[in-house]
Amino acid sequence: MKIKDCSLVRDLLPNYIDKVTSSETNVFIEEHLKNCEECRKSFENMSEKMEVNYESKENKKINIFRKVNKKIRILKTIIIIIILILIIIFVRNIAIINNIENMASKVNYNNYSKIMIETTEKYISKTEYYQNNDNFIKINTKMNEEGISKVISYRINGQEDMRIFDNGVENQDINKTSIEKDVQYQFLNKSFFGNIGIALSFGSVKNITLYNKPCYLLNVDNYLNFIDKETGLTIKEININNNSVIDYKYTFGDITDEKIEDLINNL
Ligand SMILES: [Zn+2]
Repeated sequence: MKIKDCSLVRDLLPNYIDKVTSSETNVFIEEHLKNCEECRKSFENMSEKMEVNYESKENKKINIFRKVNKKIRILKTIIIIIILILIIIFVRNIAIINNIENMASKVNYNNYSKIMIETTEKYISKTEYYQNNDNFIKINTKMNEEGISKVISYRINGQEDMRIFDNGVENQDINKTSIEKDVQYQFLNKSFFGNIGIALSFGSVKNITLYNKPCYLLNVDNYLNFIDKETGLTIKEININNNSVIDYKYTFGDITDEKIEDLINNL
């Protein structure tokens, strides 16, 4: 056995173990290993090492797989938590809206007044509405660059009329057939499914205090509603899109027929 053969075989062993040597080389190496104890030992050593190496590579692959799996699990958990939070917000919004609706529907609208003041960039408008049973008067006063206009409609003891004044001068040619009793005001006059839509589109429902009253502030598409928690009635509306503000004031149980008659007689 020549020393030179040994060193050649040892150089070839890694490739032989990896099975990339030619069949002629294989015969040469196997012949040599049969007869050379030293080279056989180093062959055994090397094949063990390569196996360990191979195994550790497999382990690494498994570890990477486990890490990716863990990340996916964390991501899934985060998504589930976000969905749960959205569901909680949605259910809370539905509960608040239904509560507001319930309260607003319990208000007795038979004897009340409502005053709305709307301020926009183009005009200021004040609408007063007084009602007792079938009798009512609605006075709308609007101020803009052209002056002041007033539209008054009323019904007293079955008699209805409507009068319009432009800068203090009564307009005689008006269509008086469209006198309508004002609709009872409720914040949300929607179906349950309508409320779901509102709840879904809510940016937020906040608890705040306005004019010393605890309120809900509902923000829907830049449209802010301040709702009195005690009555469920809107007391302020702000439309950020067109810069308009509407303030509402209500009284209940103090509107008499005499008061309505007085207002009509003083037109
Ligand atoms: Zn040898």
